[in-house]
Amino acid sequence: MSCHCHEHDGCENPDAHKHEHGHSHDECCHHDEEPSIKSLVIRVCLTVLFTIFAILFEKGIILPQLVLPWKSLLPLLIFISAYLIIGYDVLLRSVKNIFHGEIFDEKFLMTVASVGAICIGESLEAVGVMLFYQIGEALQDYAADKSRDSITELLDIRPDSARKIEENTETIVTPEKIQVGDVILVKPGERIPLDGTIIQGESSIDTSSVTGESRLFEAGKGDAVYSGTVNKSGLIHIRVEKPFSESTSVRILEMVEHAQEKKARTQNFITKFAKIYTPVVCGIALCLAVIPPLAFKQVWSQWIYRALIFLVVSCPCALIISVPLGFFAGLGALSKNGILAKGANYLELLANAKTAVFDKTGTLTKGTFEVTLIHPVENISEETLIAIAAHAELYSIHPVAQSLVRSHLPPCEHGSQCTVCKRELLDCCKNIRLENVKELAGQGVSATVDGKKVLAGNDVLMESEKVSGFEENKNCEKCSEVSGTVIHVAVDGKYFGHIVISDQVKPESKSALQELKKLGIEKNIMLTGDAEKAAQKIAKQLDLDEYYSQLLPCDKLMKLENIMEQVQIKSAAKGSVLFAGDGINDAPVLTRADVGIAMGAMGSDAAIEAADVVIMKDELSKIPLAIRSARKTLRIVKENIAFSIAVKIIVLLLSAAGLSNMWLAVFADVGVCLLAILNSLRALKV
Ligand code: ADP
Ligand code: MG
Repeated sequence: MSCHCHEHDGCENPDAHKHEHGHSHDECCHHDEEPSIKSLVIRVCLTVLFTIFAILFEKGIILPQLVLPWKSLLPLLIFISAYLIIGYDVLLRSVKNIFHGEIFDEKFLMTVASVGAICIGESLEAVGVMLFYQIGEALQDYAADKSRDSITELLDIRPDSARKIEENTETIVTPEKIQVGDVILVKPGERIPLDGTIIQGESSIDTSSVTGESRLFEAGKGDAVYSGTVNKSGLIHIRVEKPFSESTSVRILEMVEHAQEKKARTQNFITKFAKIYTPVVCGIALCLAVIPPLAFKQVWSQWIYRALIFLVVSCPCALIISVPLGFFAGLGALSKNGILAKGANYLELLANAKTAVFDKTGTLTKGTFEVTLIHPVENISEETLIAIAAHAELYSIHPVAQSLVRSHLPPCEHGSQCTVCKRELLDCCKNIRLENVKELAGQGVSATVDGKKVLAGNDVLMESEKVSGFEENKNCEKCSEVSGTVIHVAVDGKYFGHIVISDQVKPESKSALQELKKLGIEKNIMLTGDAEKAAQKIAKQLDLDEYYSQLLPCDKLMKLENIMEQVQIKSAAKGSVLFAGDGINDAPVLTRADVGIAMGAMGSDAAIEAADVVIMKDELSKIPLAIRSARKTLRIVKENIAFSIAVKIIVLLLSAAGLSNMWLAVFADVGVCLLAILNSLRALKV
């Protein structure tokens, strides 16, 4: 049972654990002789009984009339039986492993140590070592499994079934069978199985399993709901918007599963370490057994015994189990808070963050703009200007576009992120011919609306398209007093006017940035495609160390690379650079940064693909939280490494000096391992 089992493979696959409780373990480890608890208990009892008999024979308490050689042979035979009862599977496994070319594993070590002990006449210790080893392994397995279960329970968001409504009848089907456009019913208390929009009913939705925030959100007709969240109070009908395989809960689980594959440097180090460490200890043990007797005429059996202790102690079990478990707990803690990291390696990078780079719109600011000023040129009405802009922006998901579209709508009772109205708008715009829609990242859009070429965007766009009349109106005095982002509109190459929209800094941005500073982040930097003036204002408001404006997406990438180079040159401690963005126009930057953090990713695909860490809810305060939690996890893992290596070294020294025995060695091994497992679990709490 095993250290080995936990080390490679998908045993940590939370899904396997959840759905095939009990089987998954054996299944993924292919352990043919995994002893069940019951058989282990029987074997332990038999072994203890045999051992007692052997001792009684040896001491001559039973059958004192026996003579040599029987007097010593009989107890030995009983000891060996006891030994085989408790340790036969370890022996078999280590022989098998030798044939598979994996010589230096702990089973091999236990086998050599215990067989060696029998050979030098320490049968009692051989049995004892094997007995404690087996009990210890069972305890370790139990503890590790329990911990893994409790971690994966946190992520228990996969829905098992959905109520499909067709012609007023309800059928319960697996969520995979539901198609986009189907209507499903969710009763109070049930988990929402697929992403969609409420078309009937109202309820409060508990999103804590997805966002980590335990606040109820009141949802009604037109609101988007996500799978994995829980319908608390009302009966709701949902029109499904995404197939099950792309739904939020499945994506979260997939990310957590894949996170196990990307190992942290510490984990890789441990695997390498174990590979070198065990043979080295075996070599030392051999020297210890052979050199003193040969060179200094010491007693053979005494030095062989010391060497055997060496072997028992050298089991790297505590490291092999506790290190991955610690990282797993760390990843679990983050996901409980709505933060998904795509690998344990990102915990290390997060913990080492020295520079934080942010996108502006939607990350530091709310990304929901309000139109504050409409300023058309002569002969154009305000309504016309807004309508033209809104039509051109109809299909863009950029926050700027959505605010322009929204301002063209009749007032809506469905809240700010309303998908129903978008549809109504599309309906009311049915008669408008919209062609050649092109989104120019970081600049704006161009589209042919009813045969006229419309441009809506910033200075860069107007200049590159050589719009006539733009230069004269560019520095409009009236509008420069109003702060905000200026969107210019042109039709058929002629300037039509501009719309000033303003965004607001998120209320928690400032405190989150301050907290980052307290955590040792040296620089907070903002990158934005917006104009200098708008950028400057926000930078001042948020006390940013640096900001760069008017950047196209490719400029942002170059700027980030510059920043990363500087960090490399300047800081000796190789700090990492993290970038937080919302995935709109900044996917390449998310990918390039040491840690790309996508904000508010609930439902956003591009960001989830590009990012290394995904924050489900649009909250900046989760970034310092993630860093703190990552640091805690790393600290715990390092504690475990230091603690187990220290105890091993102490016992090794003691045994080399002849001050230890095999009992102590095996207790140290099992004890350290259990303590390390318990310690790993502390990473579960943020
Ligand atoms: P940020 O870096 O602040 O997140 P983006 O790179 O997404 O901003 O966009 C930069 C600028 O490009 C915006 O401030 C806006 O002026 C313009 N822009 C981008 N997309 C659009 C759009 N769909 N319509 C109008 N203007 C846009
Ligand atoms: Mg952006």
